Amino acid sequence: MSNNYASFLTHPVFKVASQIITEKNLEAYVIGGYVRDLLLERPSKDIDIVVIGNGLDLAKECAERLRVKKVSFFHNFGTAQFKYKDLDVEFVGARKESYRQDSRKPLIENGTLIDDQNRRDFTINAMGLSLHASNFGELIDPFNGVEDLSKGILRTPLDPNTTYSDDPLRMMRAVRFAAQLDFKIEGESLQAIYDNAARLDIISVERIMDECNKIILCAEPSRGFKLLFSTKLLHQFFPEMVDLHGVETIDGKTHKDNFFHTLEVLDNVAKESDNLWLRWAAILHDIAKPPTKKLDREIGWTFHGHEELGARMTPKIFKRLKLPLDHKMKYVEKLVRLHLRPIALVKGSVSDSAIRRLLSEADDDIEDLMTLCNADITSKNEFKVKKYKKNFEMVMEKLKAVEEKDRIRNFQAPVSGELIMQTYNLAPCAEIGSIKARIKEAILEGEIPNEPANAIALMLKIGEELGLKVVKEPTLNK
Ligand code: ATP
Ligand code: MG
Repeated sequence: MSNNYASFLTHPVFKVASQIITEKNLEAYVIGGYVRDLLLERPSKDIDIVVIGNGLDLAKECAERLRVKKVSFFHNFGTAQFKYKDLDVEFVGARKESYRQDSRKPLIENGTLIDDQNRRDFTINAMGLSLHASNFGELIDPFNGVEDLSKGILRTPLDPNTTYSDDPLRMMRAVRFAAQLDFKIEGESLQAIYDNAARLDIISVERIMDECNKIILCAEPSRGFKLLFSTKLLHQFFPEMVDLHGVETIDGKTHKDNFFHTLEVLDNVAKESDNLWLRWAAILHDIAKPPTKKLDREIGWTFHGHEELGARMTPKIFKRLKLPLDHKMKYVEKLVRLHLRPIALVKGSVSDSAIRRLLSEADDDIEDLMTLCNADITSKNEFKVKKYKKNFEMVMEKLKAVEEKDRIRNFQAPVSGELIMQTYNLAPCAEIGSIKARIKEAILEGEIPNEPANAIALMLKIGEELGLKVVKEPTLNK
C-alpha cells in the first residue's frame, strides 16, 4: 500500500496551508479524525491541522489567503478555528501534555509531532499527513494505526491505563468509536477501561452525554451499550438503566432481562428512525420496571404502572444527565407514558372511543408512538412475534380508519371559547373551559360526531342544564 495520500488532499485548505508552511519552512500535518475517515472512506466534516510552532499564526494566514473573514482564536488553548464552505478547520500548535490526578486538564508545553501524536487517544486517531511540499501527503504513522484500522482495533498509543486515567473521557470515546465503526477495543485497553471506570467522575456530565448520544445515534446502538455495561462505565452515570439488567426466578416463574430487551427495542427503533429523542424513548420505555416489579402467584411477574412511573422518572433523569428539559423531554415523557396503549387496544373488542382517546393524547406523535410500540415487540418465540405483529397491523388499520372518519389528531375544539362567551354574554371564566371539555369528551366517547353543528347543539343543551341564558344565537361560521 502506498504511503502517500497527496491525491486525496485536494481541498483548497490543504493547498493554501501547504504553500504557507513551505514558504516559511515550517512543519504541519493534517491529523486525527480527518485522516482516519479518509482512510476509511468515510465523509468528514472537520479538519485538524497540527503545526510545529504557532497554530494561531498559520490559521490567520490561511484564512487571509482563503478570504475567510471570521476566525475564532482560543489563546488559552493555542488553537484557532474557522469555517470554510461546509468544513470546520482547526489549527493547533503541536503539544506535549502531562496530567495531574484530579483533573482532565493537562499541563501543556510546546512539543514535536511525536509528542502530539503520543497525546492522542487511539492509534487510528494519531496518524498525520504531511503538508510540506517536500513530502506532501506522506503518512506519518508511528503506532501503526493503518494496521489497526484494517483489523478494526482500538488501541491507545501509550499505556492504556495511563491514557484512560489521564483523561477518562477517552473511555467513553473508545466505546463510541467501537460502536460507530464496529471496531473491537483491544484486550488490555478493555481491562484498563474496566479498572478506571470510576474515574469518569471527574468528567462533566455534558461531555459524557455528548458521547453517549453519539452512541445512541449509531446504526446499532446496543453494541455501545453492551460495552458501557460490561466495562461498568454505564454504572457511573446511568444506574437506572443498569438496574434493568438481570432475571429473577421464583417458583419456576422467570421474567425477561429488561436490559437486553431495552437494547433490542432501541436497535429496532434505530432501524426505523434517526430521531435521537425517539431513541431515548426506547431507552426509557421500561425504565420503571425494576421499581414496579412484583410476583403475582397466579399470573407471574407484573410491572403494573411502569409506564406512568417511567414517565415521571423521565424529567428527573433528563435533569441529572443535563439533557434538554424542553419539548424534547416532554415528547419522551409522553411516549414512555403511552407506550403500552396501542397494543392494549388489541385486547378484547376495541372501541372507537379508546382509539379516539389515544389519537387525541398522542397527537402529532402518533407515528413515533407506533414505531416505538412496534419495536417493543420482541420475543424469542417467533410464533408470538408473528401474532403480535399481526395484532399491531390491526391497530394501525383501526387508527387510520378512525382518524379519517373523526379527525381527532390535533384536536381543534369545534366550538370556540369565544362563541360560548358571545352566546351567553360571559366574561372569561372556568365555566367556558368546562363546557369545552364536555364537548370534547362527547366527541371522544362517540356520543356526537366531530362536527360544528352537533357541537353547537350540545353546547346549547349544556348551557340549558347550567341555567345559562342565550343572548346571541350561535351561528355555524363563528
Ligand atoms: P469525530 O469528529 O467523528 O467525533 P474525531 O476523532 O475527529 O471524531 P474530535 O473530537 O474531532 O474526534 O477530535 C479530533 C482528534 O483529536 C481525534 O482524532 C484525536 O486525535 C484527538 N482527540 C480528541 N479528543 C481526545 C481526547 N480526549 N484524548 C486524546 N485525543 C483526543
Ligand atoms: Mg473530528
